[in-house]
Amino acid sequence: MKLKINQLDLPPGYSPEQLLKAAAKHLRCDPAALSNLQTLRRSIDARGRSPRMTLTVEVDLAGSLRNGLRNVEKAPSVERIVPPVVAGFSGRRPLVVGAGPAGLMAAFALAEAGLKPLLIERGEAAAPRAKRVESFWKDGTLDVESNVLYGEGGAGLFSDGKLTSRSKDRPRVRRLLEIFVASGASPDILIDAEPHIGSDVLEELVPALRSRIIELGGEVRFGARLDRLEIENGNVRGAVISGEEFRTDTCVLATGHSARDIYEMLAEQGVPLEPKGFAVGVRLEIPQHRIDTAQWGGSFPNLGKASFRLTRREEENARSCYTFCMCPGGLVISCASSEGLMTTNGMSLSKRDKPMGNAAFLVPVMPSDFPNLGKPELAGIEFQKKMEAAAFAAGGSDYSLPAQRLVDFLEGAESDLPSERSCTMARPAQLRGLLPEFVEHTLRSAVPKMLRSMRGVQLDEALLYASETRSSSPVRIVRDEEGQSVIRGLYPCGEGAGYAGGIVSSGIDGLRLAESIVATR
Ligand SMILES: Cc1cc2nc3c(=O)[nH]c(=O)nc-3n(C[C@H](O)[C@H](O)[C@H](O)COP(=O)(O)OP(=O)(O)OC[C@H]3O[C@@H](n4cnc5c(N)ncnc54)[C@H](O)[C@@H]3O)c2cc1C
Repeated sequence: MKLKINQLDLPPGYSPEQLLKAAAKHLRCDPAALSNLQTLRRSIDARGRSPRMTLTVEVDLAGSLRNGLRNVEKAPSVERIVPPVVAGFSGRRPLVVGAGPAGLMAAFALAEAGLKPLLIERGEAAAPRAKRVESFWKDGTLDVESNVLYGEGGAGLFSDGKLTSRSKDRPRVRRLLEIFVASGASPDILIDAEPHIGSDVLEELVPALRSRIIELGGEVRFGARLDRLEIENGNVRGAVISGEEFRTDTCVLATGHSARDIYEMLAEQGVPLEPKGFAVGVRLEIPQHRIDTAQWGGSFPNLGKASFRLTRREEENARSCYTFCMCPGGLVISCASSEGLMTTNGMSLSKRDKPMGNAAFLVPVMPSDFPNLGKPELAGIEFQKKMEAAAFAAGGSDYSLPAQRLVDFLEGAESDLPSERSCTMARPAQLRGLLPEFVEHTLRSAVPKMLRSMRGVQLDEALLYASETRSSSPVRIVRDEEGQSVIRGLYPCGEGAGYAGGIVSSGIDGLRLAESIVATR
């Protein structure tokens, strides 16, 4: 009989033998009666004096099940996506634009279905791109086509590689994680409640995924930029790619939310767009050991590094402040994809072993916060640009991040920078005035209280970097239930379409749209 046991309690770093014994003890049976023990989910329980692991497992029991056991049930069957296949496809090849998580997954699923997609990416392949980004972080040399935001792997390549998602679409999340594992990620991501892979692993995984797309009949071109779509009578008829025409009737547009030229092109071509809310703020870093102590009572080598998620609203109708994209043991980085505009974000390596942890502290903004900034549907981009230009100037106009100690930001005082910080490309600056006053006001009142809610965290150790402006898309490319724009054959996809945010949700959006396209063949 196959059983599922919920809430099995084990120490961090438990061995397979300890797990088997714990399962047998829970079922009040002999370990020899158990086989095919498999962990389905694993999370850290930090409620007690020292952290424990909580597991959900599946196991075959030989013999009968005792009555009255808690947290035991018959193992339910797992719902799986069966990738659809089109036999003997001979039509026009679908075009996928952008090799970020959304475009890679769409191209993979289309290739697997036999539709031989062409995947184009304006930036470089992961390896040369990584070298270019290294020189950007060293001396501020920016390539506007291949950078921290553009290139194979998309904005997700130099990221924390957190694979958490609030999506309820568990079968597709599972499919995406299995594709990652088949491309070289650790199988741990299939069971961890907060899966993480890290930038160094992504740099290997993404080219492996590209090879699989090619093996399945897809084609991948780098340094290939979508200049414009060819639209006739409301249908996609082709695309101009770096000056050359390509005939297609299907385009998955997965260009991310940094490709502002794409939004301009779509607006000019009459593709329906609408403005949407997003969030802006700062990135804050504090010593990682303080976070471990606040969350777990100390550091535990078997548990990795602790993270946090905080939110605060000062008064009922006030704006909230919330943390986003926390990177334990990570690095704060400068990001740019056009001259003179700069934003910040956080990344980490698989070991998450850097001494500082960082997170964005964000305040939501709505289209009503940025009226009269050019075309209404693109006003959010103009709003972002103002903050990004101000940060660029405050950082010394060489893509160094303007930074200030939190305590000095609160008092409006001049700052020096602590030598212990993750970002060497940072300059001391006055951060007041770089963000709209209502955002700064919310940050000034909420951030100290949020930090104080973590026991032992010292305010005078916190360092702020400006500004976080690209937490999600400021524009939505309108689409219907099937994922299609009113321009038939155009499938806006991923974060840039405004329907997804983060690696997993953008990736499963790519899988879903590919299934939608396959269903039309
Ligand atoms: C530093 C950083 C850290 C992050 N950390 C995390 C994290 O830990 N976990 C998480 O879930 N999310 C994280 N994110 C967010 C995550 O990376 C994005 O949500 C995700 O990458 C969006 O995927 P996407 O495919 O929709 O778009 P993108 O990843 O932005 O990819 C779009 C791609 O399209 C290409 N492109 C643009 N225009 C054109 C054109 N005209 N022609 C051809 N190609 C084009 C771009 O070059 C780019 O490669 C992070 C983001 C950043 C910047």
